[in-house]
Amino acid sequence: MQLSELGENGIIEYIKTRSFKPISDNSDIIIGIGDDAAALNINSKRGGGKGGNKLLVTTDLMTEGIHFDLSYTTYYQLGFKLISVNVSDIYAMAGSPAYALLALSFPAATKERDLNEFIKGILDALHLYNVALIGGDTCSSKRDVTISATLLGYAAKPIYRDNAKVGDNIYVTGYTGDSACGMELLKRINNTVEIEKGVELNVPLDWNIMSPLINRHLMPKVKMPDIKNIKVNSMMDISDGLATDLKKLCTASGIGAYVYQDRLPISSELKIASEYLNIDPITLCLNGGEDYEYLFTSSDSIDSAFCIGKIISNGFTLINKDNIEKELRDFGYEHFK
Ligand code: ADP
Ligand code: MG
Repeated sequence: MQLSELGENGIIEYIKTRSFKPISDNSDIIIGIGDDAAALNINSKRGGGKGGNKLLVTTDLMTEGIHFDLSYTTYYQLGFKLISVNVSDIYAMAGSPAYALLALSFPAATKERDLNEFIKGILDALHLYNVALIGGDTCSSKRDVTISATLLGYAAKPIYRDNAKVGDNIYVTGYTGDSACGMELLKRINNTVEIEKGVELNVPLDWNIMSPLINRHLMPKVKMPDIKNIKVNSMMDISDGLATDLKKLCTASGIGAYVYQDRLPISSELKIASEYLNIDPITLCLNGGEDYEYLFTSSDSIDSAFCIGKIISNGFTLINKDNIEKELRDFGYEHFK
């Protein structure tokens, strides 16, 4: 069956009947899907008590041909990733995600089973992050798939990107470049990989090396940054590439940065796969994109994250292992360019 037979109301009904998978606390939802707008209590447990009393709101949109290619990504993976990238924005403000709205535009000829897989990906991710679906919008499109999620969350003390201080250490919470490397590998495979079902491919490179990279590209699972006992001055998530996002943080804070090349967080898988692909691992690490790790600055010295450099008053400098300085270049993705 195609979506043209199911219709808008059929799609909404399908989503609605499956969206009640309980999350740990639904008691603040007065009305979710079904009326003109959702109604929430914002003053009780989920807000004031659990996660703080500041409301965080974010939205991210993904469109076919720009953000994803259905020849490499399954509908399930697409749904899962849409939620992950939005949760990442809430975590990056030191918040906990609570509610989601989902806006969908699918071609009328889309197969019903593809929509079902997509919704399954959405719901599995919502369940993983303990987020309730409370509404959205649905319409048909002439050609491409466009999907967008809006997330609401709570924070006691949001952490912003505009407060980095000269002398702060610059930290990254995990390896970067893996996702971009995974995408390059997928292009070589030139097919979808149902990695969530444990599919293994017979490929020239060891599957134990390839699969974590591909997994990070197709189905990023984001983690709350572990900053409990650290005085963090500024933070943001890394979605456009480490170098680009570091520059954004520095520009917002009105300062500059020193980055040590030999401290860049490069995974062992990235080292091996980038050699196989003949791509410089440092370029992937600095300019890859879609990493969904976090960049933060703090005057504390910690070893629970990678310290890649220091905040200085101005300029962006990359220092190699022979102490030779060059400008830190960024080639991160910018739309409309
Ligand atoms: P309206 O005409 O008021 O915009 P709709 O018919 O678009 O209402 O939607 C009916 C209900 O279904 C609303 O509660 C809306 O939030 C919800 N809804 C519509 N599309 C989606 C979707 N893709 N995911 C979740 N909820 C949705
Ligand atoms: Mg509507």
